Amino acid sequence: MPKVHNWQLGRAMDYPYREAHPQSQFVFVFNINRCIACQTCTMACKSTWTFSKGQEYMWWNNVETKPYGGYPQYWDAKLLDLLDAAHREAGRVMEWDPGEKNARQPYGVYRGMTIFEAARAADKRDEVALGYEPTDQEWRAPNIHEDTATGSQDQRASLNLKATVLPEHQTWFFYLQRLCNHCGYPACLSACPRGAIYKRPEDGIVLIDQKRCRGYRKCVAQCPYKKPMFRATTRVSEKCIACYPRIEGKDALTKGEPMETRCMTACVGKIRLQGLVRVNPDGSWAEDRDNPLYYLIKVEKVALPLYPQFGTEPNGYYIPPRWVPRPYLRQMFGPGVDEAIARYTAPSRELLAVLQLFRATQTMVFRYKIVPGQKVFETTTEGRKWSMYNDTVIGYSKSGKEVARVTVEEPKIVRQDKHYNSI
Ligand code: SF4
Ligand code: SF4
Repeated sequence: MPKVHNWQLGRAMDYPYREAHPQSQFVFVFNINRCIACQTCTMACKSTWTFSKGQEYMWWNNVETKPYGGYPQYWDAKLLDLLDAAHREAGRVMEWDPGEKNARQPYGVYRGMTIFEAARAADKRDEVALGYEPTDQEWRAPNIHEDTATGSQDQRASLNLKATVLPEHQTWFFYLQRLCNHCGYPACLSACPRGAIYKRPEDGIVLIDQKRCRGYRKCVAQCPYKKPMFRATTRVSEKCIACYPRIEGKDALTKGEPMETRCMTACVGKIRLQGLVRVNPDGSWAEDRDNPLYYLIKVEKVALPLYPQFGTEPNGYYIPPRWVPRPYLRQMFGPGVDEAIARYTAPSRELLAVLQLFRATQTMVFRYKIVPGQKVFETTTEGRKWSMYNDTVIGYSKSGKEVARVTVEEPKIVRQDKHYNSI
């Protein structure tokens, strides 16, 4: 099996195809700390793409309550169990070596096995990746366990969360927003015996060719995130298409400029930012300091990939929730969790400004600039002095047009007396 470089793991790994990378990559950042689980994103996607017969249980975007919720049910717990068993059988440990961190290995080096390597170690000849196909019942309740928190000490013990300290909460839950990660090394693509799945060279979007697909469901079984879904009425699989007409600038609203997807732009909590990053021929990201996605992921390292240890190099990044016990978060987002939370809790002046760009415009922002403002607040956090400045962040589209201008402090607008009792 060819070796490819996975920058999230800081090492080469097995993958069924030779290394090939798009010129740009579809990337998104979700700030978990702000999500209110209103499901507006979920409905925006459903009402656009999956409202037809046979798509009733198909939710390309979903928001689930962790630790108990999941769509399909138990998707991550089941795969983690399989991966854990494969490690035990092989006498190996699923662990990270923090080692030396640099641009090629920002989270250190993952010493365990990915889903591709675990399938080989277990000699699963007919599978390219470790996986399973969910039952019909597991697809049936997309929002099961909504708002269910960990409760008793017994549950804490069963989750192995013995060493929690404040500010982590004793009883907790959080919302996890999910869609296809348009992975760098998609397991769905590598599993398809028909070669029906492809990754677009211009933007890294992963699509299923509906004419080639024969509904074997290998992608459903081997996508670790369970994002391809089978449609019984057409007997083929479907998945998130990243609203590619919008990415291509085909929506009239943005007049030819790339536009963010439906789920991103509908976000009420302003937790979502999506864009394109430039990729070098070797798969590393071209340095682009003023691209907000590049800044959040590569410079500030405040947003982290979901289950990077699976090995697909997912392109969805999450700002982890501050209140959740760290062992749970490290399992989900890797070893960068503590640094990311520390940086988010007492944000730098630049980070605070860039966070204001979330949902400031539907047009994709390719570059930002910050205009310094006055100091407006001062406090002490984690024993250190912290100041807030009312800076202005300006976002620019692909063609360089100004498309967003937001200040750190929200302007206060007082409704005039004559508008009392009116909406
Ligand atoms: S998340 Fe799953 S469906 Fe999407 S590209 Fe990755 S492996 Fe394929
Ligand atoms: S629209 Fe935004 S705030 Fe609402 S559930 Fe989706 S991600 Fe969360």
